[in-house]
Amino acid sequence: MASGTHVSAAVREKYEPVIGLEVHVQLLTATKIFCGCSTHFGAPPNSNVCPVCLGLPGALPVLNRRAVEFAVLAAQALNCQVRETSIFARKNYFYPDLPKGYQISQFDKSLAEHGHIQIALNGGKKKIGITRLHMEEDAGKSIHDGLADSNAYTSIDLNRSGTPLIEIVSEPDMRSADEAYAYLTLMKEIILYTGVSDCNMEEGSLRCDANVSVRPRGQEKFGTKTEIKNVNSFRFIRDAIEYEIDRQIEVIESGGKIQQETRLYNSSEGRTYSMRSKEQAHDYRYFPEPDLLPLVVDANSLAAIRKNLPELPEARRQRMVAEYGITDYDAQVLTASKRLADQFEDAARAAKNPKRVANLVQSELMGRLKARGLEIDQSPISMKGVAMSADLVESGAISSKILKDLYDKAFAGGEDFAAVYEREKPQQITDTSEIEKIIDEVIARNPKQVEQYRAGKTTILGFFVGQVMKATKGQAKPELVNEMLKKHLATGS
Ligand SMILES: [Zn+2]
Repeated sequence: MASGTHVSAAVREKYEPVIGLEVHVQLLTATKIFCGCSTHFGAPPNSNVCPVCLGLPGALPVLNRRAVEFAVLAAQALNCQVRETSIFARKNYFYPDLPKGYQISQFDKSLAEHGHIQIALNGGKKKIGITRLHMEEDAGKSIHDGLADSNAYTSIDLNRSGTPLIEIVSEPDMRSADEAYAYLTLMKEIILYTGVSDCNMEEGSLRCDANVSVRPRGQEKFGTKTEIKNVNSFRFIRDAIEYEIDRQIEVIESGGKIQQETRLYNSSEGRTYSMRSKEQAHDYRYFPEPDLLPLVVDANSLAAIRKNLPELPEARRQRMVAEYGITDYDAQVLTASKRLADQFEDAARAAKNPKRVANLVQSELMGRLKARGLEIDQSPISMKGVAMSADLVESGAISSKILKDLYDKAFAGGEDFAAVYEREKPQQITDTSEIEKIIDEVIARNPKQVEQYRAGKTTILGFFVGQVMKATKGQAKPELVNEMLKKHLATGS
């Protein structure tokens, strides 16, 4: 949370935050964007390099077709218009891990623009605009610590140099840290669904910078913004934005002015620090990359790539609600990952009552997985097993209490539901004379309830069913007990 600031809620209320996000996503291609070097993460330092990605004089870049296809697919998933002809540009700046002295990126004619996604907000929806999506190469990596001579030197690993990225720039449409968090969560979900990136933040496959400003409520003109860089989790980004909003309000309230600058977030201290004054676009002296032709994505290519676009999370949730009769909340939980959603749908389609499957997955399966720190892929009970158990409860063959016991046994023994059920399956009492005997006993033991039932309080039937089930240790078929009880209670025999 925004520690280290002293802004009261009343003062905070006077200002409106304005937030825009820049998200860098690494594309899951096997090779780099302008050469054939591997993009494999974790290779020995400086082993995946060649004259092109080392920036040696005279080496010429050749564009990776797969990277373009992935970038276009992502653009389509984010509702962007893809430009037929886009231009690569040189962005000139010096970094020790950027040996060419420039980065090949895109500038005024980027691959795609005018997109949007819809975040869920207070029970409603809010559209967040996407200004543009462009392709670029990643730089190398400076290593300041962790090596034997780190106290004396900074080392450079150029394996990452030339890794294909897309940068997705949002409109300044977000008005709170929570909206920014929701945007990033949905963005990651959509990108994961397209399969163009693994969005692994620890490995740097997804990185985010936030532009933050505040303005007095009612004022149209934006305030001066700062950029927060290098935050490595969504939670920290939310915290960093909250801190930065309060910091800016404090500066303005005490009569100061916001400096346009780049700031770094320190997550252990929960505050941002000034890093450098922000470069303007002209500082980078962008110009069209002379070593690459304009990139043309014609209508045929667009249509061909669009065929690979899967059903996206939001559309899927709406369909699932309609198709299986589950709630919006169920759909939200069950689409937390594409894998979970795929598995749930397999089970829901196989089972008699999809809503029951949805309930079982959420209450019985996910609860047990969470308690053991397991992912859905590590579940001993397969979705087929969940579907089977749902049908057994549905038909009355087992009670929900027995289902819970069987789930516990499956988790304890690391077995699927079918195996446990076959071994442990309750010997059902189908002998009606045995059930009848128990019913007679229960009726004899509870004259008061019998009287109530006969006086018209038929809801008390559940009490009798419960008593009989208890006496049979859950091994009688509830439907049968129900039917027989009604008869006995009515006739008084
Ligand atoms: Zn290379």
